[in-house]
Amino acid sequence: MKRSIHTEVVHQNKKDTESIRSKATPIFQTSVFQFKTLEDLEGHYEGDGSYLYTRNGNPNTDELGQAIAKLEGAEDGVATSSGISAILAGILAVVQNGDHILAAEDLYGGTYHLLGHELKNFGIQVTFADFTEIESLQSHVHSNTKLIYSESITNPFLRVEKIAELVNFAKKNELMTMIDNTFATPILLNPIELGVDLVAHSATKYIGGHSDVSAGVLVGRKELVDKARQKVVGLGSNLSPFEAWLTMRGSKTMALRVEKQAANAKELANALVESELVEKVYYPQNELPKGNGAIVTVTLQQKVNMSVFFSALDWIKIVPSLAGVETTVSYPIATSHRALPKEAKEKLGITQHVVRISVGIEELFDIVQQFTKAIEQAAGKSV
Ligand SMILES: *Cc1c(COP(=O)(O)O)cnc(C)c1O
Repeated sequence: MKRSIHTEVVHQNKKDTESIRSKATPIFQTSVFQFKTLEDLEGHYEGDGSYLYTRNGNPNTDELGQAIAKLEGAEDGVATSSGISAILAGILAVVQNGDHILAAEDLYGGTYHLLGHELKNFGIQVTFADFTEIESLQSHVHSNTKLIYSESITNPFLRVEKIAELVNFAKKNELMTMIDNTFATPILLNPIELGVDLVAHSATKYIGGHSDVSAGVLVGRKELVDKARQKVVGLGSNLSPFEAWLTMRGSKTMALRVEKQAANAKELANALVESELVEKVYYPQNELPKGNGAIVTVTLQQKVNMSVFFSALDWIKIVPSLAGVETTVSYPIATSHRALPKEAKEKLGITQHVVRISVGIEELFDIVQQFTKAIEQAAGKSV
């Protein structure tokens, strides 16, 4: 049948992608999938594994979810639009209106807000507690408590969570556990192997690794991830195919990046301990078997002028995030912890002189030299 230009322009020859042996996974940049026959359509609903609509599932997002699940030793995983939406989906897979969550008090700011404000508005109760003494948590467990929530390495002072102890405590009390493993990465720690039920990642950070994408991943047992996936579909917090593809591409170098970044971080921490202009260095000492991550936090001496310090860092830029391949610094008092009340900042030790360093993959010597120079310059020493 001859078709008009208006029809032709819409139905131009479409490549048959099945016969193309692309080495890289193609980007399935489509909002929906097509069916040739009614039987094919019926097949989808009968569970033949075919795709229907990208919010419900897409090959690129599935590839990412399953790849991280594999690295974490989990049965299944789902990719989401951000770290926060992965956390939300995981929590909603376990708790509902009227339930109670026991959470660590030193959580990532966005998670603190999600739990303390957004979820509270939906009738989910949350207690934030000091998790340094696990046994002391017993008084916070109530009949409606369902979930214990924490992070494997906290921000900005890098407390390493006692996950095995936390899992024991949770099991004793018949509670679920969920861990945000963003700072430790699937390379350095696998909380699932320690008995944790759900693990969330901000893939925006080390999994993506290049500061060019916002994404999240949640992994765990299949039945829990299925429930979380239903939340992602129902709430519309799915990741786009292109972002999933970018994140997957970044993830292939994660082991190399994270190993190098963690090795650099350890040596930078050692070098900064030696400086008389550094009051305190926060870096976990041999707490994780495979390395302690790539974030180093320092409190500089009072006499260091912070404006001069940040300007003198030259190629090390102020970036209020972390985990890219470049070394960057953030200033918690002005960014991540800005909204905290004055007393809370004081209790946590967030002062004008605290700097969080996200260590990159550059040459260690250059990184150390740049920090040493900037600190000395900002303390009025001639360099
Ligand atoms: C960045 C971050 C999040 C939030 O992730 P987004 O991708 O920004 O939504 C959650 N937890 C930790 C530890 C983070 O660093």
